[in-house]
Amino acid sequence: MEQLTFLAVHAHPDDEASSSGGLYRLLADQGVRTVLVCCTNGECGDAADGAKPDADHHDGDEVAKIRAVELDNAVKILGISRLVRLGYRDSGMKGWPQNDDPESFWSTSVAVAAGKLAAVLMEERPQVIMTYNAYGFYGHPDHIQAHRVTLAALELIDYEPTLYFNAIPNSIMAIWRLRWEQEDREKAEADAARGIVRAPEVRDPDEEQIELGTPDDQIDAVIDISEVNGAKFDALEAHESQIADSFWMKMGREQFIETMRTEWFVRVTNPMDIAGCVEDIFSGYR
Ligand SMILES: [Zn+2]
Repeated sequence: MEQLTFLAVHAHPDDEASSSGGLYRLLADQGVRTVLVCCTNGECGDAADGAKPDADHHDGDEVAKIRAVELDNAVKILGISRLVRLGYRDSGMKGWPQNDDPESFWSTSVAVAAGKLAAVLMEERPQVIMTYNAYGFYGHPDHIQAHRVTLAALELIDYEPTLYFNAIPNSIMAIWRLRWEQEDREKAEADAARGIVRAPEVRDPDEEQIELGTPDDQIDAVIDISEVNGAKFDALEAHESQIADSFWMKMGREQFIETMRTEWFVRVTNPMDIAGCVEDIFSGYR
């Protein structure tokens, strides 16, 4: 039988775990070859002491070194067959000065980066690939660029893989939103009890409001990751410098395994003429 190969294009070390960690581990366990293309080194992440990139002593190159080791560990946990680092500099969030660094992923030519990705695609010939939608799922410039570079690379290769974008159904997003609001309220109450009063967050009126969720009926792949979500948690935990205080880690391993049982995707190209919503991302190929 033809070797099945899956390839995901991710922006930063840790995105492979958060957006597709369950899928990676599941496919590896099924004997599928799995490839991760990580576009940036993640220089704009938190430093080891928690310092943010705008802090004077924040050293992006040091952060990238820590994140490289963390990524290697996550790759092992998820059973990823091959990691390709494109090596671009992290562009930071929209409007940050790092956007304009000539070595940033955001500043790089889409055509040049697409050529590099296309070379990997031609070598590996994955039947199924995954990246983010045109908003980069949540508006991060490097995620938007990963989307653009992936679509451009598909124009350069001699076959058409099935492309999926990761997604969260609106029904699930609504549950998470309630949970986050609850956490915010609890934090404000705890602060108030200690005499700390915080100014309410003011939204930038120019800021584009991006809808994170996808209408439930537009989801094309619902992947049950309940057998492997312990490994997903461990892979997230491997990115300790970035997500030690994320809501996943606060949830703890046990509750994570109980709660985070599914990954969702939207199909974008469909060379195998797959109809309807599937439970196997390789539907049509096996
Ligand atoms: Zn990212």
